[in-house]
Amino acid sequence: MSSNEMKLSHPKGLYLLFITEMWERFSYYGMRALFMLYITKALLFDKGFAAQIYGNYTGLVYLTPLLGGYIADRYWGNRRSIFWGGIVMAIGQFLMFASALNYQDVELAKYLMFCGLGSLILGNGFFKPNISTMVGHLYAPTDKRKDSAFTIFYMGINLGAGLAPLWCGFVGDTGNPADFKWGFLSAGVGMLVAVFIFELFKNKYLCTPEGKQIGLSPMEDLTHHSHTLDVDDSLKNPNSKKRLVWSLGGLVALFFLFSFNFNSLNTVGAAIFEGADWIGSAIFAVSIIMPVFIVADKSLTKIERSRIFVIYIIAFFVIFFWAAFEQAGASLTFFADEQTDRRIFGWEMPASSFQSFNAIFVVTLAPIFAALWSFLGKRGMEPSSPVKQSLGLFLLSVGYLVIAIGVHGVDANVKVSILWITSLYLLHTMGELCLSPIGLSMVNKLAPIRFASLLMGVWYMSNAAANKFAGTLSGLYPENGVAKSFAGYQIATLYDFFMLFVVMSGVAAVILYFLSKKLEKLMNGIK
Ligand code: GLN
Repeated sequence: MSSNEMKLSHPKGLYLLFITEMWERFSYYGMRALFMLYITKALLFDKGFAAQIYGNYTGLVYLTPLLGGYIADRYWGNRRSIFWGGIVMAIGQFLMFASALNYQDVELAKYLMFCGLGSLILGNGFFKPNISTMVGHLYAPTDKRKDSAFTIFYMGINLGAGLAPLWCGFVGDTGNPADFKWGFLSAGVGMLVAVFIFELFKNKYLCTPEGKQIGLSPMEDLTHHSHTLDVDDSLKNPNSKKRLVWSLGGLVALFFLFSFNFNSLNTVGAAIFEGADWIGSAIFAVSIIMPVFIVADKSLTKIERSRIFVIYIIAFFVIFFWAAFEQAGASLTFFADEQTDRRIFGWEMPASSFQSFNAIFVVTLAPIFAALWSFLGKRGMEPSSPVKQSLGLFLLSVGYLVIAIGVHGVDANVKVSILWITSLYLLHTMGELCLSPIGLSMVNKLAPIRFASLLMGVWYMSNAAANKFAGTLSGLYPENGVAKSFAGYQIATLYDFFMLFVVMSGVAAVILYFLSKKLEKLMNGIK
C-alpha cells in the first residue's frame, strides 16, 4: 500500500492528534535528554542522586495519568484535559528554564526545578491518557483500522522523541552550563505549539465518522451523560461509599507497608523526589488498589468486567516488557559506552546517540507495521491483540539473545561490534511496535466509554511499575567481576546479565501466548 493510499484511509483527525502529540513528545523528550546532564553538570549533583531523581520522575509521570483519566471521564472530557495538561506542562518547562537561568544559585535553581518537575508530572497526567483515548474515538467501536491508526499515531510520538534530543541537545548541551536554559526553553515552546495547534483545529477535525464531536465533557455529551448519571447515582449508594472507604484504607495501609523502612527526609522537594521508597511504595500501592477499585464498580456489566480483566492481565505482562526495554537508558548505554566499538569510518559515535536508534527505527518501521495490520485485517488474518503482545515480548527476548551471543566468552575489556547493539535495538523496536501501539488500541476497544481514559491511565500505570523495576534490574549490571544475584540467579558476566532478560521476556511471551485463547474469549467478540 502506498503512503498516499494509507493517508486517505484514515480520518484527518488522526493527523491532528499525530502533530499535537509529536510536539508534546518533542517537549517531553527534549527536556528528558538534558535533564540528567543539567543536574550533574550545572547543579553538580552526584550521579547516584541524579539517577534516583530521574527514576522517581519517570515513575510518577506514568502514575498521574490515572488522575487525568479519572477527571476526564467524570468531569472535564478529553479536550479540556488536554488543554490544561498542556498548559501545566508548558509551565513546568518554563520553570525548568527559570531554574537553568539561575543555575549558579543552586538552592533557588533546585527549588524551581522541583516545582517544574511537579508541573510536568501533573500536566502529563492530564495530557497523555486523553490524547491516546481520542485516537480510538475517531473510529467506530469495531473499526478494523484502529491498530493501524495507533501505529501511525505512535510514529508521531517517535518523530517528536527522535528530533527533540537533537535540537535541545544542540542548543542546550554545548559544554557551557549556562546554555541548558535554551534547551528547556525550546521544550516549553514546543509544548505551546502542541496546545496551539490542537486548539486551532480540534472543532474541525475531532469527530466520529458520523460527524459527532468527540472528547467533550460528560455534561456536554448527552449520550455519555446518561452513563455518568448512573455512576454518580451509584456513588451515592452505601456500597459505593464503602468501596471508596476500603480503597482509601487499603491504599494507605499498603503504602505504609511498602515504605516501612524509609529514611527520614528533610525538605518537601527531597521528600517527593529523593525518597525512593516513598515513590516506589506509592506506585506499587496504587497499582494494586486502583484496578480493584475500578472493577468493583457496581455499574459494570459482566461483559464489561471481563474485558477490563483482559486489560489488567495484559498490563501485568507489559511490566516485564518495559522493565527490560527501558534498560536502554541505563545498562545498555553503559554497554554502548564501555563495551562497544563505536568507530565508523574513523569517527567515534557518542554512546548517547544510541538512544535515538529506537525513535529512528520506529519512524521507519511504523508505516510498514501499520500497512501490515491493514493488509492482514482486510483478509481476516490479523492476529488478536494478545497474540501481537506476546510476539512483542518474544522479539524483545530475541533481541537480548542476539546480544548475549555477541558477548558470550568475550573478555570484559574487549569491545564488540556495533552490529550487536544495533540488531538488539532493531528487534526491540519491532517488538515495541507489536506491543505498545497495539496495547493503546486494545485498551480503547475494551474499555467501556465512561472509563476510557481512566483505563488508559491504568495502562500507563504499568509503565510506572516497570520503570521502578527497570532501575532495580539495571543495578544488576556486572561491575569489576563482582557476582550479583537475583532471585537465586548468579550474574557474574554480561552474558549472564543479558540472559536474565532473555528468560524473563521469553517466559512472559510464552505464558501470554498460551493464555491468548482464554483472553480472546474474555474479550467477548473484540479482537
Ligand atoms: N515511547 C512511547 C511514548 O512516549 C511509549 C512510552 C511507554 O509507554 N513506555 O509514549
